[in-house]
Amino acid sequence: HASRTDGVDKNVWVEFTQLAADYKAVNLGQGFPDFSPPKFIQEAFCKAVSGGPIMHQYTRAFGHPPLVRSLAKFFSRIVGHEIDPLEDILVTVGAYQALFCAFQALVNEGDEVIIVEPFFDCYQPMVKMAGGKAVYVPLRPKAASGAVLSSGDWVLSAEELASKFTPRTKAVVINTPNNPIGKVYKTEELQMIADLCIKHDALCISDEVYEWLTYDGAKHVKIASLPGMWERTITVGSAGKTFSATGWKVGWAISSGHIVKHMKTIHQNTVYHCATAAQEAVAQGFEREYEVFGSPESYFQQLPAMLHLKRNKLASCLESVGLQPIMPQGGYFMIADISSVKVDYNDQSSVDEPNDFRFVKWLTKEKGLAAIPVSAFYSPEHSKEFDKYIRFCFVKEDSTLDAAEDILRKFN
Ligand code: PMP
Ligand code: GLN
Repeated sequence: HASRTDGVDKNVWVEFTQLAADYKAVNLGQGFPDFSPPKFIQEAFCKAVSGGPIMHQYTRAFGHPPLVRSLAKFFSRIVGHEIDPLEDILVTVGAYQALFCAFQALVNEGDEVIIVEPFFDCYQPMVKMAGGKAVYVPLRPKAASGAVLSSGDWVLSAEELASKFTPRTKAVVINTPNNPIGKVYKTEELQMIADLCIKHDALCISDEVYEWLTYDGAKHVKIASLPGMWERTITVGSAGKTFSATGWKVGWAISSGHIVKHMKTIHQNTVYHCATAAQEAVAQGFEREYEVFGSPESYFQQLPAMLHLKRNKLASCLESVGLQPIMPQGGYFMIADISSVKVDYNDQSSVDEPNDFRFVKWLTKEKGLAAIPVSAFYSPEHSKEFDKYIRFCFVKEDSTLDAAEDILRKFN
């Protein structure tokens, strides 16, 4: 086998999604809605597949023309830059492939990529497969008075980030709203990162798949919209997260044409293009959202309004059973501290594993509730410090959250 597969073979989603299925657990693990996407986009999909032969055949390699046009129209208004649909956008097989194309197209052997911890796990193997070296910088809980209760209390030190740059630094990867803690970066925080990227002539890969999901007045800001950043930022998005249709696997990267050009090279030589009908439906979805933007009919308002209630429901349940949550300002995950739960593990097969992995396996197998261990979102160097947290997903029917609550209440 090829050596590039070494060291990247373990995958938390493969392992824990299978475990949840094997034990038929109430699944607050992998992040996907257990309810249907909104009617308008389901109808758009049905219309696309019954719309004649062309919807069943190949479309443009770098993005179905109606979709890149809709994305350009929609996001030009938000980024404050006229996005060229044909030059500045690449439609991909989910955000995953947008990330993969970015690392493959931009990272050379020996280049360094700074990743903010905790991070969506795939950044690390993708950097490695591109021949790069991942360099980590943690968000640290502010050690101020008392307990840290909000993801907003997890901050990046400007000095620490600055110290990670070297002449080999190619890019910084950020994720806002963040998976798994739900941090939504403030403009000042993004400006600090932008200043360093500009100073060191580095790129910024900004994973914004949860861009519409913010709570309590937190506002999502695109780092690409800050002065001097359009030219050096690759913004990654996902229709799976945007329209609650993760199985469609439509994603995109938006950046300056001089960057997207190289990502297109990777894309045309790997998947060539993505499913036509799904792209057509997502295009219709963005057309609809463009018309209702900012109004209560907008799904980009309705989904966070619904999730806000689910977030609060899960948080009060976790608090009441002694699993102290960190309140997320965005996204659809919440991490909770498991330190106070004492467990008698029967399972000796997991004895060498990190505490949170052991706990989640026990919770899934013995209690029938699936979650995700948070140390999976850290580099091996730092995972030990964070193995007292597990992650729950709350983009679920209330009945699913109630079933989880029933299980948690029987704990003590
Ligand atoms: N980035 C983050 C932060 C995610 O949580 C996910 C999970 N879906 C992805 C990227 C991948 O998105 P997609 O399903 O569109 O490939
Ligand atoms: N992004 C989702 C999560 O964090 C799904 C990840 C995946 O399926 N690989 O749970």
